[in-house]
Amino acid sequence: MKSYVTHLECSASSESYPANKIHGLSNIGKPLLVRYDLEQIKYDLSKDNWCLNSEPGFWRYQALLPVSNKSSRISLGEVITPLIPLQKSATQIGGKAENIIVKDEGRLPTGSFKARGLALAVSMAHQFGLKHLAIPTNGNAGAALAAYAKQAQMKATVFCPDNTPEINVSEIQLQGADTYLVNGLINDCGKIVLEGTKKVGWFDVSTLKEPYRIEGKKTMGLELVEQMNWELPGAIIYPTGGGTGLIGMWKAFQELKALGWLTGNLPKMIAVQSTGCAPIVRAFDEGLDHAPFWEDAHTVASGIRVPAAIGDFLILEAIRESNGSALAVEDDHIIKIRDLIAKEDGLLLCPEGAATAAGYQLAIEQKIISSDEKVVLFNCATGLKYPMPKVIKKINKDDPINFEQFT
Ligand SMILES: *Cc1c(COP(=O)(O)O)cnc(C)c1O
Repeated sequence: MKSYVTHLECSASSESYPANKIHGLSNIGKPLLVRYDLEQIKYDLSKDNWCLNSEPGFWRYQALLPVSNKSSRISLGEVITPLIPLQKSATQIGGKAENIIVKDEGRLPTGSFKARGLALAVSMAHQFGLKHLAIPTNGNAGAALAAYAKQAQMKATVFCPDNTPEINVSEIQLQGADTYLVNGLINDCGKIVLEGTKKVGWFDVSTLKEPYRIEGKKTMGLELVEQMNWELPGAIIYPTGGGTGLIGMWKAFQELKALGWLTGNLPKMIAVQSTGCAPIVRAFDEGLDHAPFWEDAHTVASGIRVPAAIGDFLILEAIRESNGSALAVEDDHIIKIRDLIAKEDGLLLCPEGAATAAGYQLAIEQKIISSDEKVVLFNCATGLKYPMPKVIKKINKDDPINFEQFT
């Protein structure tokens, strides 16, 4: 299987690193980015045949992915996730039916888009012969790591904040990872993982601390291009925690542009966070290049409860280069919109996905986007993993039933 990887590059200093070695962060502690021989890809492939139709899900983008040994490709049945236009709910959040399109990532293995990143990270770890991986997680990354690591017959150790949704920690444990609850936030879990790299020798697959999760998340951008037939939307609204997805999609668009296949304007990249944890939004508003730590982070959208992101400067760069924005939404707003979209359109979003719809409403109000342009919202995980309103209406089968109530 051909790999076009030439080298890795420090995202801050552009220093080059050999691709055939195991890497974490760069020498100056910044994320490493994978670079490809785009000239050769351009020579070998074209805009019409760059996808391998025979391969499942995102593996079809092999030319722009790093795995070179097919037996190291760890797969659990990845799919191309559908684009679902909002209908009735679209007008109620200030848009037009058909123009607000949800990319439903909940259909991926382990029920979230973390599968994309961890599939690549675990595959590369397998290719390099690593045996034991560890991760700090708010839930979905841990579940994806657990599943892919087991599929690859590797050990996984997972640390979650002790208020991570119960279903997440249970699924992680059930899929074979050694799972611990920590009385702190994800960054506290991250410190334990870091210390263990020295003391236990496990490999740290934290967001952006190894180079390949971002390559997996990049496939969201590649997939959008293919699905939308090279006509990208006016904006992409993304619930931003560590920001891998936003950075990854932006990287995908740059690569396709450099190949000369993608032309025209790129989408505005709009990051959405919760008002209870909005370090990127604050840094964007204050014109900063880095985002200081957010104290007392809290939100129902646990996937974006990330008080400090190592890729903060890359997120801010992508937002600004794309003429995008960063918006904070209230938790009540998130839940109200989740309920609205489920009730009106039959589409159950996770709170993080619903946050993008709440962000859409703000972006319309603030005239950052227009209801005439197509906008893609990311529903990053299945809504089924989160608490939902209880059913309270009851029927007693032994009493006479008033059928009028059903009309
Ligand atoms: C991880 C996660 C996010 C944040 O994704 P990043 O790319 O790390 O910013 C958002 N929503 C859900 C459900 C997640 O699991």
